[in-house]
Amino acid sequence: MPERPDLEYVVPILARELAGARLAGVRVRKPVVLRVAMEGSPEALLAGQRIEGVSRRAHFVLFDLRGEPALDLVVSPMLAGRFAIAPATTKSPADLAVAFALEDGRELRYRDDVQMGKVYVIPRGAWSVVPGLATIGLDVLDPKAFTREAFRALAKKRRDQVKVFLMDKSALDAMGNAYADEVLWEARLHPKTMVRGLGDAQLDELHDAIVRVLDRARRTIAERRPALDEKLRDFLMVRGRHGEPCPRCGTKLRSAGVHGHDAEFCPTCQPDARQSALVDWRRITKR
Ligand SMILES: [Zn+2]
Repeated sequence: MPERPDLEYVVPILARELAGARLAGVRVRKPVVLRVAMEGSPEALLAGQRIEGVSRRAHFVLFDLRGEPALDLVVSPMLAGRFAIAPATTKSPADLAVAFALEDGRELRYRDDVQMGKVYVIPRGAWSVVPGLATIGLDVLDPKAFTREAFRALAKKRRDQVKVFLMDKSALDAMGNAYADEVLWEARLHPKTMVRGLGDAQLDELHDAIVRVLDRARRTIAERRPALDEKLRDFLMVRGRHGEPCPRCGTKLRSAGVHGHDAEFCPTCQPDARQSALVDWRRITKR
């Protein structure tokens, strides 16, 4: 959390709730998440700034601030970061990382129980100082940009495994671990499939699966309207369901490591094309 479908839901709420609000101060509970690329304390930089709008850029949430000095407040919630808006007088949650006090008595809270996310304060427009912010991939929820042709062209340049490709945010905007698994299950592709081994028809199917899965997730979350800081994942097919039966065929879902990430998949619906040529030594040794 959050991934693209979560942000599609959360960002408009933040924009609606916060537009026009003025920052009164900032409380940093977990300094490890904060990156300030400017002279001055966070308090001095942020107090008095007015929130003009909130938008999404790739997996980042951008707070458009107006005031002196000219700066951008950018949050990358990564795996576990989430937002909440609450009266400042209410008890702070244990996983509070940074609280932005608003002049109207509310607080914008950034919570992060693993503290992998980052809150950046940067000179306005200096996006290149934030890793991954300047160069972003093809917007998979924009039908004009994300065509089958554009996706094929992108895929033809890849020499990596399909799960790694799907999660590359400089190529595609954007999928993380959870939705990459969902898309691969939908497209019936093993996560370790090499992209260069996929033909045009398979790439088209993969393209369509991306659109279907992300659009369905976006609509499901919008319909069910979770609380701002609630992680809604119970509708996912394979992610977080390791050991449970595949919703399509009933085979027990498995997980495997792919380039430092875990992948959850169905070994029947998503057979490993390389399996016949490979011996799984780790498994044999375990026995
Ligand atoms: Zn299956």
